[in-house]
Amino acid sequence: MPGMIAYIGLGANLGQAQVTLMAALAALAQLPDTSLIAHSSLYASAPVDATGEDYVNAVAQLHTQLAPEALLDSLQTIELQFGRVRSYQNAPRTLDLDLLLYDQQIIHTPRLQIPHPRMHQRAFVLLPLLEITADSVIPGHGSASAFLSALQTQVVRKIS
Ligand code: AMP
Repeated sequence: MPGMIAYIGLGANLGQAQVTLMAALAALAQLPDTSLIAHSSLYASAPVDATGEDYVNAVAQLHTQLAPEALLDSLQTIELQFGRVRSYQNAPRTLDLDLLLYDQQIIHTPRLQIPHPRMHQRAFVLLPLLEITADSVIPGHGSASAFLSALQTQVVRKIS
């Protein structure tokens, strides 16, 4: 199977969130049949639909031969390694990994929706995504930069 380009959204807001995110990027780079092509800077953002500390966010670009559901399995394994506890919806979390884009595919299965259904509404996803791929297109929606322009009330700041 030829490699695909996938984008992963990373977020953390418990403990040493910046350290966690850097370690998670290293874990992504170690996935089988996968290489980490690029990652964004780290960004801080206030929680959306949730409480707690500011989130630290980033986006990674992978080249992978893993099928979408296998990649999701790998992401969930990494989340568990970092001690995520699913106590309640939108609870503060050690590490959250979302599969944002998988090539230009649109996928709807019980476990997996790609593009990630809320990515176009979230500046903390779009800003780091556009940092690494300025012409990013969200299948079924359109240009990522056009969506970011409409989200100027969401404050996201680059931290490193
Ligand atoms: P969350 O709590 O926001 O991390 O959501 C995790 C749940 O979303 C899991 O049950 C996944 O199967 C499901 N899910 C659906 N689409 C995606 C996606 N594109 N990336 C990550 N999780 C997804």
